[in-house]
Amino acid sequence: MKRFYALLAVMMMGLMVITSGCGSSKPAQGAQSGVAPEIKAIKDRGVLKVGVKVDVPKFGFKDPQTNKIDGLEIDLARAIAQQVLGDPNKIELQGVTAKTRGPLLDNGEIDLVIATFTITEERKKSYNFSEPYFTDGVGMMVKKSAGLSALKDMDGKKIGVAQSATSRKALQEEAAKVGAKVQFLEFGTYPEIKTALDAGRVDVFAVDASILSGYLDDSTLVLQDRYAPQQYGVASKKDNAALTKVVDEVIAGMKKSGELDKLIQKWGIK
Ligand code: GLU
Repeated sequence: MKRFYALLAVMMMGLMVITSGCGSSKPAQGAQSGVAPEIKAIKDRGVLKVGVKVDVPKFGFKDPQTNKIDGLEIDLARAIAQQVLGDPNKIELQGVTAKTRGPLLDNGEIDLVIATFTITEERKKSYNFSEPYFTDGVGMMVKKSAGLSALKDMDGKKIGVAQSATSRKALQEEAAKVGAKVQFLEFGTYPEIKTALDAGRVDVFAVDASILSGYLDDSTLVLQDRYAPQQYGVASKKDNAALTKVVDEVIAGMKKSGELDKLIQKWGIK
């Protein structure tokens, strides 16, 4: 009888070895074997590095007084850090521009871009994009004194746009539709376009309305029309599909629970 139990015990142990050795559907406890390497790297580092805008009020804006960066996109970064690292404060923010955000992802300096980054077919070839979390439209800022009120008034006018932004293509098509022959001038940064507008070197400053709002002053106005819906997505490096999956889960959860709408309201975004 004793031998029987001993044999049974040996057989059961063998069975346990077999079950733990073969691919069960759950990731193995403790060993993080179900965690993708790029997510493990973030967990090991203990901080999620995110590229955000610092000059887009309500989305990603650095308060010059406190040097604190805040906005809807920072709140999204926090929700993702909560999911990946269990702590919303484990984020390291880096200011990016339309020109720098792609290269910073490429060279691994940041894990994610959450920076008014429009999802396009072209960009999807280079980066993973999450589901959209917000949709903006391209707007036009003009000098109040110029008497311009719509795209049809822009015939013969100069439009300032940022390099690497979607604005030029969006407006080119729309201007053609209303028969306005416009000229585009490209600039490296948004402050440069605003300076050019103030100096009369361009007649229009064109980009997403959310971005324009950061440059509005007493002498300027943003025209009512919006063109070419801009769906903003969270981007990661092309080979970092596991991280985008997590981001998608977070965004889907926030949409479903109403949390995303609440945040949009909290920031007073229309
Ligand atoms: N959202 C537009 C884009 O992704 C405007 C540029 C920007 O985000 O700075 O091209």
